[in-house]
Amino acid sequence: MAAKIISGAEIASAIREEIKAEAVKLKEEHNVAPGLVTIIVGKNPASVSYVTAKQKTAKELGFFSVQEDVDEGVSETELLNLINTYNGNPQIHGILVQLPLPAHINETKILYAINPDKDVDGFHPVNIGRLVIGEARFYPCTPYGIQQMLVRTGVPTDGAEVVVVGRSNIVGKPIAMMLVQKAKWANATVTMCHTATKDLASHTRRADILVVAAGRPKAVTADMVKEGAVVIDVGVNRIGMTPEGKARLCGDVDFESVKEKASAITPVPGGVGPMTITMLMLNTLRAAQWSVKTA
Ligand code: NAP
Repeated sequence: MAAKIISGAEIASAIREEIKAEAVKLKEEHNVAPGLVTIIVGKNPASVSYVTAKQKTAKELGFFSVQEDVDEGVSETELLNLINTYNGNPQIHGILVQLPLPAHINETKILYAINPDKDVDGFHPVNIGRLVIGEARFYPCTPYGIQQMLVRTGVPTDGAEVVVVGRSNIVGKPIAMMLVQKAKWANATVTMCHTATKDLASHTRRADILVVAAGRPKAVTADMVKEGAVVIDVGVNRIGMTPEGKARLCGDVDFESVKEKASAITPVPGGVGPMTITMLMLNTLRAAQWSVKTA
């Protein structure tokens, strides 16, 4: 039987309605609009399109949003000063620095400079540390989106075998750390795989829930998937152009063959992708809500 298609677009749209309603309440009760600043250095076309989408979504949700277009030649000190300005700005609850940064700027130093209470990307080591010990304030957006897709599709995680392919700091490691927590939306047995993993298929075939974030087009094929598994495909790979001149995308999973074996699967595009920006907005809303509690 063909798999149920988990629509990230639909789940994201439902979460956005919830965010909108909570933002209205925050405005009515405390006269506060969630504030997000997106900082972009240079004019990398992919970065510009990501930041534009984030700004557009923030505005649609009634947030106070600011975009900082910074010249490619900016010094590290100037960028740190800009971040510090927003760290101290009470109208801004979330600070996002779009990556990658130019080579002359130390990315780690910049991300560490963001006040952890405004770190809506969830990449600051303080927030990663909180996540690991089960005291998370912000979850990184893509893993948070994956976790919400599982919860809102009713996929049981308690005691499930989860296999994560990929161990990046932004996807693989945090989703593994989230799903292993002793929490009702997690509590899974988690295996992480990477390029040194011996016999990848022997691991992926054990998975009740298979999360693939390898950045390799169609790396996971049907023979690597257990009958009835839930498959979350995080990969976004550009594999040419459509006749309309748009980028043709595919995931890290061979969707056509795997959908015949899995019980549920996320498509690319329209799966994990739409969730990521939405979770950024949810993190910004939460940051604003905490700011009024601690004011
Ligand atoms: P990354 O930093 O390139 O990490 C890839 C990971 O996969 C590494 O840990 C690597 O292992 C592992 N890997 C690569 N090939 C493998 C193989 N053949 N077998 C086993 N493991 C393998 O990637 P990322 O930033 O996590 O992103 C992964 C994919 O997700 C990309 O396609 C990216 O575009 C996409 N993505 C999508 C979203 C979204 O919102 N939809 C967000 C973030 C990322 P080593 O550590 O050993 O090198």
